[in-house]
Order: sequence, then C-alpha cells, then structure tokens
Amino acid sequence: MNSALSPEVLGEAPGVRAINRHHGLADEAYEAIFAQLMGLRIAPGSRITVDNLARELNVSQTPIREALGRLEGEGLVVKTHLIGYSAAPQISRRRFDELYDLRLQLEPEAAQRAARAMDGQKLAVLRDVAGVMSRQGGDEHVRYSAFARQDAVFHDRILEFAGNGLVRETLAHQHTHFHIFRLMFHSRVTEEALDEHRALLDAFAAGDGKAAKRAMRDHIERSRDRLLPAFE
Ligand SMILES: [Zn+2]
Repeated sequence: MNSALSPEVLGEAPGVRAINRHHGLADEAYEAIFAQLMGLRIAPGSRITVDNLARELNVSQTPIREALGRLEGEGLVVKTHLIGYSAAPQISRRRFDELYDLRLQLEPEAAQRAARAMDGQKLAVLRDVAGVMSRQGGDEHVRYSAFARQDAVFHDRILEFAGNGLVRETLAHQHTHFHIFRLMFHSRVTEEALDEHRALLDAFAAGDGKAAKRAMRDHIERSRDRLLPAFE
C-alpha cells in the first residue's frame, strides 16, 4: 500500500480536502438517487429534475449532475438533448426475453468453467459477496437496491473467474441486474435468490463443474419466472 495515498495524508494537503468533500457528496447523491431508481420512487421513464433533487438532498447541483452522469453510464438514467435527464424506461417484454436468453447461453457455461478454475481465494471472494447480500439491514428500498448491486457483483465475479473477458464485458454492458430488479420490488425476489446462490457456492466449493452449470441454469430460469408476472 502506498502510504502517500492514505486519507489522513490527503486530508492535510491544501485544497484536497475540498475535492474529497465534493466526491463524498457526489457519492452520497449517487447512492440516494440509485436507491430511488431501484425502489421505483423515481418511476421508470419519468423526468428527473436536477433542481428538485438538489433541494431534496440538500446539496448543490454539481454533485447531482455528477451522480446522474454515473447513473447514465449504468443505464439507469437517460440524458436527452435539450430535455435533460429522465429515468430509463422499464425494459420491454421482448428485451427481457432476449436478456434471459443471452444469460442462459452464457452464464451456465461460465459457471462450469469458474468451478473448474475455483480455488480457496476465489471461493472466499464469492462467499464474501454472497454474504453481504444476506446481511443487508435498514430501509427496505436501500436494502433492495444494495441487493441488486451485490447480485451484479456476484455474477460478474463468476464471469471473471470463468476467464473469458469478452463474455464478461458483454453481460456487464447490459446492466442486467439493475433492469431486472426494477421490474419487481418484492422480498421473495431476494430471498429465493439467496438459496439459489447457496446452491451455486456449494457446487463451486466441491469444484463440480456440472453441478455449477446446472445451479446457474436453475437460478437464471427461476429468476426469469419470478419476474415474468411484472408483464401481466
Ligand atoms: Zn443471482
């Protein structure tokens, strides 16, 4: 670790404290807006006014704009020329089917490869991410949005361990988890997913590629079936 980059040292350099404070505000604004988008307190497709958010979160427009830019990169916010920001529209049924088709083509195979490449360190990483998901406390909307993010991390790390960077990038680019979690705000969605993740972890712990492939296919199919009622 480079001690010159420790927060204590940075905090004492003139001018740096203000920058840190600024980033801190943008991070807080990001977390607050992210939770509102995931919990549908900002409805899909609705306008987002920088002014209103600045007032609501009691910060200036700068951290709000920074947070919205980051959310735009994550596909949750859309910026339209001369109109401004709005929440990304809910995905269509067709897009949903395509997304799950893509996942089913790529992720079970990746889970099998990840199981074969599994070692103690990788398993510890996955257990750690899965553990965070089951330990979320506090406000329901915050808990739900945190779960969505951790689920994205969990699946992304499996793709990383599977070793094909292009497959990993392709799925990361879809921001799947942010879109699917916005479809349904329901505790069942998260609780059942936890059990399915546990089955995956068991297969990884056993280094059983076939079991991992099956567990991933089951998880994705069940996830799809849980969310389908959102289109009825
Ligand atoms: Zn999952």
